[in-house]
Amino acid sequence: MADRLPLIAANWKMFKRIDEAVVFIGALHHEVGRPTDREVVIAPPFTALAAVSAAMRDTAFKLAAQNFHYEEKGAFTGEISGVMLKEVDCEYVILGHSERRHVFGEEDELIRKKVAAAFRYGFTPIFCVGEKLEKREEGKTFEVVGKQLKQGLEGLSAEQAAQVVVAYEPVWAIGTGKTATPEQAQEVHAFIRECYSSLFDIGVANRVRIVYGGSVKPDNVDTLMAQPDIDGMLVGGASLEVASFKRIVQFQ
Ligand code: PEP
Repeated sequence: MADRLPLIAANWKMFKRIDEAVVFIGALHHEVGRPTDREVVIAPPFTALAAVSAAMRDTAFKLAAQNFHYEEKGAFTGEISGVMLKEVDCEYVILGHSERRHVFGEEDELIRKKVAAAFRYGFTPIFCVGEKLEKREEGKTFEVVGKQLKQGLEGLSAEQAAQVVVAYEPVWAIGTGKTATPEQAQEVHAFIRECYSSLFDIGVANRVRIVYGGSVKPDNVDTLMAQPDIDGMLVGGASLEVASFKRIVQFQ
Protein backbone atom coordinates (compact mmCIF):
# COMPACT_ATOMS: atom_id res chain seq x y z
CA MET A 1 0.00 0.00 0.00
CA ALA A 2 1.23 3.50 -0.81
CA ASP A 3 2.39 5.66 2.09
CA ARG A 4 -0.34 8.12 2.93
CA LEU A 5 0.45 10.83 5.44
CA PRO A 6 -2.45 10.94 7.95
CA LEU A 7 -4.28 14.24 8.01
CA ILE A 8 -6.21 15.61 10.98
CA ALA A 9 -8.28 18.68 10.16
CA ALA A 10 -10.24 20.98 12.47
CA ASN A 11 -13.36 22.53 11.01
CA TRP A 12 -14.30 25.35 13.36
CA LYS A 13 -17.43 26.28 11.38
CA MET A 14 -18.93 29.55 12.70
CA PHE A 15 -17.15 29.37 16.06
CA LYS A 16 -14.28 31.36 17.66
CA ARG A 17 -13.51 35.04 17.66
CA ILE A 18 -10.05 36.14 16.55
CA ASP A 19 -8.57 36.27 20.06
CA GLU A 20 -9.88 32.79 20.93
CA ALA A 21 -8.54 31.38 17.67
CA VAL A 22 -5.04 32.77 18.26
CA VAL A 23 -4.90 31.51 21.85
CA PHE A 24 -5.96 28.06 20.62
CA ILE A 25 -3.12 27.89 18.08
CA GLY A 26 -0.50 28.79 20.71
CA ALA A 27 -1.91 26.25 23.17
CA LEU A 28 -2.16 23.45 20.58
CA HIS A 29 1.39 24.07 19.39
CA HIS A 30 2.56 23.92 23.00
CA GLU A 31 0.77 20.57 23.46
CA VAL A 32 1.62 18.75 20.21
CA GLY A 33 4.77 20.48 18.94
CA ARG A 34 5.69 19.79 15.32
CA PRO A 35 4.49 16.33 14.35
CA THR A 36 6.19 15.00 11.22
CA ASP A 37 4.23 11.75 10.87
CA ARG A 38 0.85 13.46 10.44
CA GLU A 39 -0.48 16.71 9.02
CA VAL A 40 -2.59 19.05 11.14
CA VAL A 41 -4.90 21.47 9.34
CA ILE A 42 -7.04 24.19 10.93
CA ALA A 43 -10.04 25.80 9.21
CA PRO A 44 -11.07 28.90 11.18
CA PRO A 45 -13.88 31.26 10.20
CA PHE A 46 -12.88 33.82 7.53
CA THR A 47 -12.48 36.70 10.01
CA ALA A 48 -9.79 34.77 11.91
CA LEU A 49 -7.83 33.52 8.88
CA ALA A 50 -5.22 36.30 8.82
CA ALA A 51 -4.57 36.22 12.56
CA VAL A 52 -4.44 32.41 12.64
CA SER A 53 -2.09 32.44 9.66
CA ALA A 54 0.28 34.75 11.55
CA ALA A 55 -0.04 32.69 14.75
CA MET A 56 0.83 29.51 12.80
CA ARG A 57 3.98 30.90 11.26
CA ASP A 58 6.33 29.04 13.64
CA THR A 59 4.28 25.87 13.83
CA ALA A 60 3.80 22.87 11.57
CA PHE A 61 0.06 23.51 11.25
CA LYS A 62 -1.52 24.29 7.88
CA LEU A 63 -4.30 26.74 7.18
CA ALA A 64 -7.60 25.91 5.50
CA ALA A 65 -10.61 27.93 4.42
CA GLN A 66 -14.06 26.46 4.96
CA ASN A 67 -15.29 27.39 1.49
CA PHE A 68 -14.53 29.73 -1.41
CA HIS A 69 -15.91 31.00 -4.72
CA TYR A 70 -14.46 29.68 -7.97
CA GLU A 71 -14.28 33.13 -9.60
CA GLU A 72 -11.27 35.35 -8.95
CA LYS A 73 -13.32 38.48 -8.29
CA GLY A 74 -16.68 40.00 -9.15
CA ALA A 75 -20.11 40.98 -7.94
CA PHE A 76 -20.59 38.04 -5.57
CA THR A 77 -21.81 39.55 -2.33
CA GLY A 78 -20.83 37.50 0.70
CA GLU A 79 -18.26 35.37 -1.13
CA ILE A 80 -14.48 35.09 -0.88
CA SER A 81 -12.04 34.26 -3.68
CA GLY A 82 -8.94 32.16 -4.03
CA VAL A 83 -6.82 35.27 -4.54
CA MET A 84 -7.99 36.56 -1.16
CA LEU A 85 -7.27 33.24 0.53
CA LYS A 86 -3.81 33.14 -1.03
CA GLU A 87 -3.05 36.48 0.63
CA VAL A 88 -3.37 34.82 4.03
CA ASP A 89 -1.41 31.72 2.99
CA CYS A 90 -4.25 29.23 2.90
CA GLU A 91 -3.12 25.82 1.68
CA TYR A 92 -6.34 23.82 1.96
CA VAL A 93 -9.99 24.53 1.26
CA ILE A 94 -12.95 22.50 2.49
CA LEU A 95 -15.47 22.03 -0.33
CA GLY A 96 -18.88 20.39 -0.51
CA HIS A 97 -19.29 20.16 3.25
CA SER A 98 -22.73 18.77 4.08
CA GLU A 99 -23.73 22.08 5.65
CA ARG A 100 -22.89 23.81 2.35
CA ARG A 101 -24.78 21.15 0.41
CA HIS A 102 -27.84 20.81 2.60
CA VAL A 103 -28.19 24.12 4.48
CA PHE A 104 -27.02 26.41 1.66
CA GLY A 105 -28.13 24.32 -1.31
CA GLU A 106 -24.78 23.78 -3.02
CA GLU A 107 -25.06 21.21 -5.77
CA ASP A 108 -22.57 18.87 -7.38
CA GLU A 109 -21.91 21.13 -10.38
CA LEU A 110 -21.03 24.13 -8.20
CA ILE A 111 -18.80 21.97 -6.03
CA ARG A 112 -17.08 20.60 -9.15
CA LYS A 113 -16.26 24.15 -10.26
CA LYS A 114 -14.81 24.90 -6.84
CA VAL A 115 -12.71 21.72 -6.77
CA ALA A 116 -11.30 22.59 -10.21
CA ALA A 117 -10.67 26.20 -9.14
CA ALA A 118 -8.81 25.04 -6.02
CA PHE A 119 -6.07 23.69 -8.30
CA ARG A 120 -5.79 27.01 -10.13
CA TYR A 121 -4.73 28.58 -6.85
CA GLY A 122 -2.57 25.69 -5.66
CA PHE A 123 -4.95 24.76 -2.83
CA THR A 124 -5.53 21.19 -1.76
CA PRO A 125 -9.28 20.60 -1.74
CA ILE A 126 -10.77 18.68 1.17
CA PHE A 127 -13.71 17.44 -0.85
CA CYS A 128 -16.62 16.18 1.27
CA VAL A 129 -19.10 13.50 0.28
CA GLY A 130 -21.69 11.65 2.33
CA GLU A 131 -25.21 10.31 2.42
CA LYS A 132 -28.23 11.39 4.42
CA LEU A 133 -29.81 8.94 6.86
CA GLU A 134 -32.76 8.11 4.63
CA LYS A 135 -30.44 7.20 1.75
CA ARG A 136 -28.45 4.89 4.03
CA GLU A 137 -31.67 3.28 5.21
CA GLU A 138 -32.78 2.82 1.59
CA GLY A 139 -29.47 1.06 0.89
CA LYS A 140 -28.34 3.88 -1.40
CA THR A 141 -25.12 4.96 0.35
CA PHE A 142 -22.81 3.82 -2.45
CA GLU A 143 -25.07 5.30 -5.12
CA VAL A 144 -25.07 8.74 -3.44
CA VAL A 145 -21.38 8.79 -2.58
CA GLY A 146 -20.38 7.41 -5.99
CA LYS A 147 -22.34 10.12 -7.78
CA GLN A 148 -20.98 12.95 -5.61
CA LEU A 149 -17.47 11.66 -6.18
CA LYS A 150 -17.77 11.24 -9.94
CA GLN A 151 -19.32 14.68 -10.43
CA GLY A 152 -16.99 16.53 -8.07
CA LEU A 153 -13.83 15.06 -9.62
CA GLU A 154 -14.89 15.41 -13.25
CA GLY A 155 -12.27 17.08 -15.40
CA LEU A 156 -9.36 16.62 -13.00
CA SER A 157 -6.15 15.05 -14.22
CA ALA A 158 -5.03 11.86 -12.49
CA GLU A 159 -2.30 13.82 -10.71
CA GLN A 160 -4.79 16.39 -9.40
CA ALA A 161 -7.21 13.68 -8.32
CA ALA A 162 -4.45 12.01 -6.33
CA GLN A 163 -3.84 15.25 -4.44
CA VAL A 164 -7.47 15.75 -3.42
CA VAL A 165 -8.28 14.82 0.16
CA VAL A 166 -11.68 13.12 0.09
CA ALA A 167 -13.68 13.46 3.32
CA TYR A 168 -16.36 10.84 3.85
CA GLU A 169 -18.85 12.51 6.16
CA PRO A 170 -22.16 10.67 6.57
CA VAL A 171 -24.65 13.49 7.09
CA TRP A 172 -26.39 11.59 9.90
CA ALA A 173 -23.14 11.53 11.89
CA ILE A 174 -22.23 15.23 11.67
CA GLY A 175 -22.75 17.11 14.90
CA THR A 176 -25.20 14.45 16.11
CA GLY A 177 -22.97 12.45 18.45
CA LYS A 178 -23.69 9.38 16.25
CA THR A 179 -20.43 8.13 14.79
CA ALA A 180 -20.29 5.61 11.99
CA THR A 181 -18.83 2.40 13.36
CA PRO A 182 -15.28 1.74 12.19
CA GLU A 183 -16.70 -1.04 9.98
CA GLN A 184 -19.34 1.25 8.41
CA ALA A 185 -16.74 3.93 7.75
CA GLN A 186 -14.18 1.45 6.39
CA GLU A 187 -16.76 -0.03 4.01
CA VAL A 188 -17.44 3.37 2.41
CA HIS A 189 -13.77 4.38 2.38
CA ALA A 190 -12.92 1.16 0.56
CA PHE A 191 -15.75 1.91 -1.90
CA ILE A 192 -14.37 5.43 -2.50
CA ARG A 193 -10.96 3.93 -3.22
CA GLU A 194 -12.55 1.49 -5.68
CA CYS A 195 -14.34 4.38 -7.41
CA TYR A 196 -10.98 6.15 -7.68
CA SER A 197 -9.52 3.05 -9.23
CA SER A 198 -12.20 2.93 -11.93
CA LEU A 199 -12.27 6.70 -12.50
CA PHE A 200 -8.46 6.96 -12.61
CA ASP A 201 -6.24 3.97 -11.85
CA ILE A 202 -5.06 1.83 -8.99
CA GLY A 203 -1.96 3.96 -8.42
CA VAL A 204 -4.08 7.10 -7.94
CA ALA A 205 -6.50 5.13 -5.73
CA ASN A 206 -3.65 4.01 -3.50
CA ARG A 207 -2.31 7.55 -3.16
CA VAL A 208 -5.51 9.49 -2.42
CA ARG A 209 -6.11 10.31 1.22
CA ILE A 210 -9.63 9.56 2.42
CA VAL A 211 -10.49 11.04 5.80
CA TYR A 212 -13.55 10.38 7.94
CA GLY A 213 -15.76 13.01 9.60
CA GLY A 214 -18.81 12.72 11.79
CA SER A 215 -18.73 13.01 15.59
CA VAL A 216 -15.05 12.05 15.85
CA LYS A 217 -14.03 12.18 19.51
CA PRO A 218 -10.98 11.27 21.61
CA ASP A 219 -12.61 7.95 22.51
CA ASN A 220 -13.35 6.76 18.96
CA VAL A 221 -10.43 8.16 16.98
CA ASP A 222 -8.06 5.24 17.56
CA THR A 223 -10.42 2.53 16.30
CA LEU A 224 -11.39 4.63 13.29
CA MET A 225 -7.75 5.35 12.44
CA ALA A 226 -6.94 1.63 12.71
CA GLN A 227 -9.01 0.93 9.57
CA PRO A 228 -6.90 0.31 6.47
CA ASP A 229 -8.63 2.86 4.22
CA ILE A 230 -9.08 5.63 6.79
CA ASP A 231 -6.27 8.16 6.41
CA GLY A 232 -7.34 10.89 8.77
CA MET A 233 -10.13 12.80 10.41
CA LEU A 234 -12.18 15.92 9.70
CA VAL A 235 -13.32 17.10 13.11
CA GLY A 236 -16.01 19.63 13.97
CA GLY A 237 -17.21 19.86 17.58
CA ALA A 238 -14.26 18.07 19.18
CA SER A 239 -11.79 20.43 17.45
CA LEU A 240 -13.00 23.43 19.43
CA GLU A 241 -11.26 22.46 22.68
CA VAL A 242 -7.48 22.07 22.80
CA ALA A 243 -7.61 19.00 25.08
CA SER A 244 -9.93 16.97 22.86
CA PHE A 245 -8.35 18.04 19.58
CA LYS A 246 -4.87 17.30 20.96
CA ARG A 247 -5.95 13.73 21.78
CA ILE A 248 -7.35 13.33 18.26
CA VAL A 249 -4.13 14.68 16.72
CA GLN A 250 -2.24 12.20 18.89
CA PHE A 251 -4.30 9.20 17.76
CA GLN A 252 -2.54 5.90 18.29
C1 PEP B 1 -17.71 18.49 10.38
O1 PEP B 1 -18.13 19.60 10.57
O2 PEP B 1 -17.10 18.26 9.35
C2 PEP B 1 -17.94 17.46 11.40
C3 PEP B 1 -17.57 16.25 11.12
O3 PEP B 1 -18.53 17.86 12.57
P1 PEP B 1 -18.63 17.00 13.93
O4 PEP B 1 -17.25 16.44 14.21
O5 PEP B 1 -19.07 17.97 14.97
O6 PEP B 1 -19.62 15.90 13.70
